[in-house]
Amino acid sequence: MEKSVFKRIIDREIPADIVYEDSQCLAFADANPQAPTHLLIIPKKEIKSLDDISAEDESLLGHLQLVIRDLAREFELIAGGYRVITNCGAGAGQTVFHLHYHLMG
Ligand code: 5GP
Repeated sequence: MEKSVFKRIIDREIPADIVYEDSQCLAFADANPQAPTHLLIIPKKEIKSLDDISAEDESLLGHLQLVIRDLAREFELIAGGYRVITNCGAGAGQTVFHLHYHLMG
């Protein structure tokens, strides 16, 4: 199976403006920003979409939420507010089939 573009970013095969990384996840600037701050937060584990999560991912998903909260603070999005979006399925506009959360503020 061909690697998704996000897996290639995780593996450093293509460049990205990475703003955060730990053992479980990666966050980087969206290449086509739809807001002044537009980050993508992804698990390193290959999960296609929100529909593909399982009970064993519960702690990972909680971790992602905390990372998003911290990035929103770091990028000073609290005062203006921010949105967190995940598109699930092509019909919702998902184009990269590796679970990701858009953080926009
Ligand atoms: P989706 O439409 O799947 O919810 O979001 C995919 C997002 O990934 C889009 O906002 C798109 O701009 C971004 N994207 C696609 N390819 C790349 C890439 O190679 N690098 C970065 N940084 N973002 C990408």
